Amino acid sequence: MYGNRVADGAGVDRRKRINDVLDKHLHRSSPSTSTSASTRPIKAQIQAQIQANNSDATLEESETDTGGSDVSASDDGEDTSWIAWFCSLRGNEFFCEVDDDYIQDDFNLCGLSSQVPYYDYALDLILDVDSSHGDIFTEEQNELIESAAEMLYGLIHARYILTGRGMAAMLDKYKNYDFGRCPRVYCSGQPCLPVGQSDIPRSSTVKIYCPRCEDIYYPRSKYQDIDGAYFGTTFPNLFLMTYGHLKPQKPSQSYVPRVFGFKVHKP
Ligand SMILES: [Zn+2]
Repeated sequence: MYGNRVADGAGVDRRKRINDVLDKHLHRSSPSTSTSASTRPIKAQIQAQIQANNSDATLEESETDTGGSDVSASDDGEDTSWIAWFCSLRGNEFFCEVDDDYIQDDFNLCGLSSQVPYYDYALDLILDVDSSHGDIFTEEQNELIESAAEMLYGLIHARYILTGRGMAAMLDKYKNYDFGRCPRVYCSGQPCLPVGQSDIPRSSTVKIYCPRCEDIYYPRSKYQDIDGAYFGTTFPNLFLMTYGHLKPQKPSQSYVPRVFGFKVHKP
């Protein structure tokens, strides 16, 4: 199953590809994903095909245990946990690593099995447990399980970042400016936090919340395919209540429109 792991830098294309597969499987489409599917450039499709071919090749090599330069990529995949690998993909920088202990506690996953297809396989993939019992999956099944694992991880992540440990992990990322800065000039590069506009998956993509101007913005383009429900509507607000000292003062300046130096008269 690890043969489907692709090298770093392929996260965005991979997400589009597996979203397409999941959409096909779920027989429904949301406006954001159907748009991305229809406008998906030919180049991305070709890259996806190449990745699919590469992952086949990796699988064959690992099955036959032959040495070779390409094997190192699959070796890396074996050494890292699925969670560490997933969080290291380009475009997944907003995610923190959820503790295995948290995922292994059934109480924390309550209700998710009905939301995520291939739930058991997806959960085992996330936890690096081989549950295939020798079953060989087709490429499409592997992609479905991969996409289900991504969705399951996202939904677990949304819950985890509301816990003490999860919030501490997100605090480290916030201090590292991992979520980007507010684009508003008078917010002076204020670091932002990720937020969803809905807690229901596939409703809207992730946005960034600025604690200074208290508004939300689109993140950089590589993050614009990530589901907002993987962060949820509560996170930044509970985060700033928990770490009250991080809440910045409201901006003192605001933009004043002028024409030839004179303020524009408001009727
Ligand atoms: Zn701002």
